Amino acid sequence: MTTKVLVTGAGGFIGHHLVNELKSKGYYVRGVDIVHPEYAATRADEFEILDLRRWDACLQAVRGMDQVYNLAANMGGIGFIESNKALIVHDNTLINIHMLEAARLNNIKKYLYTSSACIYPGYLQKSPDIQPLKEEQAYPADAEDGYGWEKLYTERACRHYMEDYGMATYSVRFHNIFGPLGTYDGGREKSPAAICRKIAMAADGDTIEVWGDGLQTRSYCYVDDCVEGIYRLMQSDFHDPINLGQDRMISINELVDIVSKISGKTIHRRHDLTKPQGVRGRNSDNTLLREVLNWEPKVSLEDGLKLTYEWISKQINNK
Ligand code: NAD
Repeated sequence: MTTKVLVTGAGGFIGHHLVNELKSKGYYVRGVDIVHPEYAATRADEFEILDLRRWDACLQAVRGMDQVYNLAANMGGIGFIESNKALIVHDNTLINIHMLEAARLNNIKKYLYTSSACIYPGYLQKSPDIQPLKEEQAYPADAEDGYGWEKLYTERACRHYMEDYGMATYSVRFHNIFGPLGTYDGGREKSPAAICRKIAMAADGDTIEVWGDGLQTRSYCYVDDCVEGIYRLMQSDFHDPINLGQDRMISINELVDIVSKISGKTIHRRHDLTKPQGVRGRNSDNTLLREVLNWEPKVSLEDGLKLTYEWISKQINNK
């Protein structure tokens, strides 16, 4: 019998790609979101518009399903999460606690929760050349205020549902996922998409604004690797939180330079030190990922950024 899966946040960036991947693998997919996907039609067998902050909506979303991939969240890049903490904590707490309980009541066999590198303590991320973050370093906790604390709390809630009720839960910590069909303007976009947009809109020799001094570091993972990793994790019997990202750490300035090269334009940077830049340095330690999945993300940053830049340029030129 065909396995039935629910993807929440299926109107969003990763959820949309995940629906496509699960459809290619032969699953019956129900997508749920408060919006339809913005840039391409969904391949889900059913797509329901539901506000998952509401208990009744969560019950409706999980009915008849075997597995849940719970991606729905009120989220965005650093500009959004630093200035909307109450809203984020309110919405995501309601979505996640209601989704867990609705899944339990409907005997969901496997439940995946999408956590974030934002759960890692600020005190470990104070310099651009930090050591990659290992899963066990999440504690003693000092998560990103608002968004990160809610993610950490929900990871624990997943653990409790597994321990107390025997529901198989999975928690995956994403490290900066990027790619085509992701938000690239409007205030919720993340750094790779924002930089691609600015460079796509710039003329050769122009100057673009970069948030902070650009020396802050991150690692970036292409969305195809992300959905592959999610899927592999759901086939495993590993239930503790696990990193999913690339472990190549680069500065924002380097990111700008790579995208400039892809665009074929000479681009200068103007640094705005008043803008939020998040932690000073962050990278993923993939030791556990390699051990558990016998796999790690493969798409190079250059290849992923090329595909992303081309897609964003096309969107802008077609406007
Ligand atoms: P996204 O914003 O594109 O997708 C999230 C989706 O959730 C959106 O389509 C949104 O409409 C939906 N949603 C919000 N509130 C809802 C509600 N009340 N009811 C139903 N749907 C609702 O974000 P994404 O990048 O695809 O992220 C997916 C998941 O991965 C999120 O949980 C996010 O926190 C997590 N994550 C993403 C990244 C990343 O780099 N993109 C990093 C760490 C964690």
